[in-house]
Amino acid sequence: MRSYDFDLITIGAGSGGVRASRLAGGWGKRVAVVEKSRVGGTCVMRGCVPKKLLIYGAQFGEALEDAPGYGWTVDGARLDWAALIEAKNRELDRLEGVYGGILRRNNVQLIDGKAVLADAHTVEVAGQHFTAEKILIACGGWPTVPNIPGIEYAITSNEALDLGELPSRVIIVGGGYIAVEFAGIFRAAGSAVTLVIRGSEVLRGFDEDVRIFLGSQMVKRDITVRREAVVRGLVKTNEGIVATLSDGDAMTADAVMFATGRSPNTRGIGLEEAGVELALNGAVIVDEWSRTSVPNIFAVGDCTDRINLTPVAIAEGQAFAETNFNGNPTCLAYENIPSAVFSAPPVGVVGLTETQALLRGPIDVYLTRFRPMRHTISGRDESTLMKLVVCADTDRVLGCHMVGADAPEIIQGLAIALQCGATKAQFNATIGIHPTAAEEFVTMREKRPD
Ligand code: NDP
Repeated sequence: MRSYDFDLITIGAGSGGVRASRLAGGWGKRVAVVEKSRVGGTCVMRGCVPKKLLIYGAQFGEALEDAPGYGWTVDGARLDWAALIEAKNRELDRLEGVYGGILRRNNVQLIDGKAVLADAHTVEVAGQHFTAEKILIACGGWPTVPNIPGIEYAITSNEALDLGELPSRVIIVGGGYIAVEFAGIFRAAGSAVTLVIRGSEVLRGFDEDVRIFLGSQMVKRDITVRREAVVRGLVKTNEGIVATLSDGDAMTADAVMFATGRSPNTRGIGLEEAGVELALNGAVIVDEWSRTSVPNIFAVGDCTDRINLTPVAIAEGQAFAETNFNGNPTCLAYENIPSAVFSAPPVGVVGLTETQALLRGPIDVYLTRFRPMRHTISGRDESTLMKLVVCADTDRVLGCHMVGADAPEIIQGLAIALQCGATKAQFNATIGIHPTAAEEFVTMREKRPD
């Protein structure tokens, strides 16, 4: 049998790659990870973590706005954006150290540089060749922007997370996760924000009630939403960046951010040459074991474009390691995966949308909109939406949807209930915690009329 330098070489030290590598290393396998940027990947360095830190930072603005209703006098408060960015960067440095330490403690060798597959068992990094019995592709994704005139003046989430100063006027193009999250960050920090979406509502793929409701709440927070519009071109002037819209309107801003989707980072690393099949959008095609068309090459995380969420990449990395290095064949179930959008207000969802559920059979819908107690006195004009989609035949709860403060925290718990197959009767039999918003999920009794 041919001998290799390593049992496993992983390309990409993001969430999925680190999990798989450190498990295999911990089980005594000889493992290397190749990373061309920083250990931690998109989630830790350019995504979830820095984004959430900026959200926390910006949210103090919201609290200050709400405080006078509760008797506070707030004088002279202002955000030092550069200080926030610096604090965020210090935390990212700390986390990079933590991730590096995890790899070291599990005897995983970190190879710094860009990996290119030379053949199905060989990875080349800066002219050096390393061989492995198995190769795991975990190279993530990267923002994509449309090819329009002046696109070089636009930024993506990568740069938006690192702006030296807060832009006073921001245009954000796109209506997905990233666009609505950054709209909330910039608005709460004090920028004037315009969101340009090509559809009629934000968050395509989410429940229609959630989409419409979130859009309305964003407008109440003074985010201008330009619907059914696209940016045709950008020009830099002394006044700022001028964006021309499809309807002929022109808008000037200090920053124009495109959040128009992400693509797998799979080109130019020798995948196709090694026989690994890619989909049209560049995603690595894998089976339920995350195995590619080449039997010893596997792929997990955003580069496979299945469900592009950190915990999913981690679970895929874990399943790969269990299956291949721990004698414990494990496949991931892609049902009932909860997710959250950290917009303002945030969204939390698990299970089926009303439209998806209707395709499976008759349903009952429970829906409530109410003013959260905090805003009875704060004076903020904001409501919360909660929705349950229930199978009319079995009484099983098929979907839980929420837009409002703490939705991501609340939905995580409900995801366990859905995972256990909870029925609406069991939701009803659960005692609420008073006074909370979450208690509404166990006190909704009136079916929405058909
Ligand atoms: P999404 O795919 O979620 O959204 C892309 C948005 O851009 C859509 O509104 C889309 O419109 C629009 N769009 C695409 N192309 C164009 C174009 N040429 N002109 C104008 N608009 C365009 O991508 P994101 O970049 O927001 O996020 C990428 C992925 O990252 C998400 O799908 C998610 O999996 C993950 N993510 C998860 C987060 C979380 O869990 N909180 C946070 C951030 C990212 P349309 O709807 O009409 O297609």
